[in-house]
Amino acid sequence: MRLRNIPRADGVIDAHRAVIKKPEEQRGQWAQVFGNEKPIQIEIGMGKGQFILNMAKAHPEINFIGIERYSSVLLRALEKYDTEEFENLENIRFICMDAREIEAVFAPAEVDKIFLNFSDPWPKARHAKRRLTSTEFLARYEKVLVENGRVEFKTDNTELFNFSLEQVKEAGWELLAYTYDLHHQEEMNKGNIMTEYEQKFSEKGNPINKLIAQRKE
Ligand code: SAM
Repeated sequence: MRLRNIPRADGVIDAHRAVIKKPEEQRGQWAQVFGNEKPIQIEIGMGKGQFILNMAKAHPEINFIGIERYSSVLLRALEKYDTEEFENLENIRFICMDAREIEAVFAPAEVDKIFLNFSDPWPKARHAKRRLTSTEFLARYEKVLVENGRVEFKTDNTELFNFSLEQVKEAGWELLAYTYDLHHQEEMNKGNIMTEYEQKFSEKGNPINKLIAQRKE
């Protein structure tokens, strides 16, 4: 399941206590990994981890799992986790995997919420199924989310955002809220934690889109 791309990253990742090495072995037992029954929220494609680390710090009542496909990128998140600012956080774990495998790693209703932030756009039509907000991925999320479980998606890419709004509808999910300008939408922006990409693009003046969608019954 793991894409091995740089040897040094793999060594650090294998040795790191916050990384779950064989995540499929924890399927149905994630509460035991954390040692408590707090809800589990995951970020798919967490990149260098700024969002999920700050979420874990701000929300000790929730357990977080950061999922990233590339070990070289996960390494950057682990380096951040190991700084004084985050190193004693007990409510966060990391997995190096492709999110396509998510059903092999989480049992039905094991995940409370899924965050997707600045997901890769896959602009070519023939790659649409690879987009993390496609109906194919929403069907995978349905299999692991709790009843009424939600996906929260942020992006500056309006084309991908419009595609995602359509896919939510096509999948029969309920669109609970959306905005084309998160940082000027007071209610949706309350408690917002910025990702690396969000910071970069909003500093350039790009508006940030966000949607919140609830799983089909
Ligand atoms: N979420 C971060 C942010 O907002 O700053 C990073 C955004 S970056 C554009 C997208 C990240 O998602 C990359 O690190 C990429 O490797 C990861 N990614 C893309 N597809 C993935 C998949 N199918 N499974 C796991 N990670 C994935």
